[in-house]
Amino acid sequence: MQLWKSLVNLFLQSNCPLCQRPASEEFCEYCHKQLQKCRLTGSNNSKNNLSSPPVIAWGAYGGAIKRAIATMKYNNHPEIARPLGEWLGEVWLQEYGSKGSFMVVPIPMHPEKQKERGFNQAELIAKSFCETTGLKLKVNGLQRVKATEALFGLSPIERKETLTQAFDIGKDFRKPPNVPVILIDDIYTTGTTVNSAVEILSKSGITVSGVAAVAVPHRGKLYKEFIGKVG
Ligand SMILES: [Zn+2]
Repeated sequence: MQLWKSLVNLFLQSNCPLCQRPASEEFCEYCHKQLQKCRLTGSNNSKNNLSSPPVIAWGAYGGAIKRAIATMKYNNHPEIARPLGEWLGEVWLQEYGSKGSFMVVPIPMHPEKQKERGFNQAELIAKSFCETTGLKLKVNGLQRVKATEALFGLSPIERKETLTQAFDIGKDFRKPPNVPVILIDDIYTTGTTVNSAVEILSKSGITVSGVAAVAVPHRGKLYKEFIGKVG
């Protein structure tokens, strides 16, 4: 059913998934403009923050990008991941160029949840990110071994408890890679998910050099939990 819906969406590509108006690209001109308003300017990116590994992001979470991510995840529009991954890849190229050798690992979903949704948006974003940047994709670098409830509304301690041992090393990294890893997620909020992933990778001697997310909360709310925990 999920696959069928995805196929139907492919054929209906002439309608913008956010407003149903006709569109020649993924989004109609209006929504594209609204989305571009969410884009962070260079100074908002993590170079100026003290987080380690650094977080790079395309946009500030809210408005059109919030709507686009929700539509992708909850209204079965996996095709939205492609432009998002491409934009994120462009930010990466602007910040770091094509230097450095990294492996790109999406934050995995629990298999049951992924079956329900039909896709893992972080994986699709990572795929498109890699097509843009030329970096190597390792879809199964990590695996999610614990189904977790939505983190929304939980306190920092509850979030951490929920995510403890949520991940394990995936089959792609049974033999650890000899280059550092970049993690990809759709939204980076408090960093609890990423911290949990970094922890398990570090235990296996794998270095995480950075996190790339399509959207992050506005400045100030970010990095609180992240700073100083990973190094
Ligand atoms: Zn639209």
